Amino acid sequence: MEQKKIMVIEDEKPIADILKYGFEKEGFEVTCAYTGGSGLEMAEDYAPDMVLLDWMLPDIAGVDVCRMLTERYNLPIIMLTARSNVEDKLYGLESGADDYITKPFDLREVVARVRTILRRFERVQGIRKEEPAAEGLTVSEQERMVCRNGEAVELTPKEYDLLLHFLKHPRQVFTRVILLEQIWGYDYAGDTRTVDIHIQRLRRKTGLGDKLVTVFGVGYKYVP
Ligand code: CA
Repeated sequence: MEQKKIMVIEDEKPIADILKYGFEKEGFEVTCAYTGGSGLEMAEDYAPDMVLLDWMLPDIAGVDVCRMLTERYNLPIIMLTARSNVEDKLYGLESGADDYITKPFDLREVVARVRTILRRFERVQGIRKEEPAAEGLTVSEQERMVCRNGEAVELTPKEYDLLLHFLKHPRQVFTRVILLEQIWGYDYAGDTRTVDIHIQRLRRKTGLGDKLVTVFGVGYKYVP
């Protein structure tokens, strides 16, 4: 397997070192930046497959670094945060982060989540750019953007991931638990209601409506 490149942007050197050590042991290539500015600068040449980004950096706020990275590159980002406040998390997700890890973390958990997100990201890359995804819907995965009849549809990162998951697997039935595992990560603390809420929003926002079919007692499928 091709060696994946991880970039760690974290000003606390001991934490950066632990991540570097842990990921290298698992066969990843890792580089560390200790400020937001140097991270943004290094990302250009290093071209990471994924970024682990600290929320509290000395020069630029982690969320702002996240936003700048997602504006420039199409790559998944996990935020590392000491805060467990839900509003902070939502704020971070709006800025384009794919997932959250609260410090102190379990290294094995971080590795597992990174693997999950990288797999998901690769699957999503399988959809060609600007391919008409469904009636009236166009997906530009370079920009992680969905248009409905030419108009941009505002989707959260998870709504986007969920939509692409269905579009990539037409007619396949997914249980709520499987969707939670595949879209949110197997150790996500939320419950299956999360899936229902996201499906409802997707039906409304994308106009797919009942093409996102409820399979009674099982889960959901997308029927083109
Ligand atoms: Ca910090």
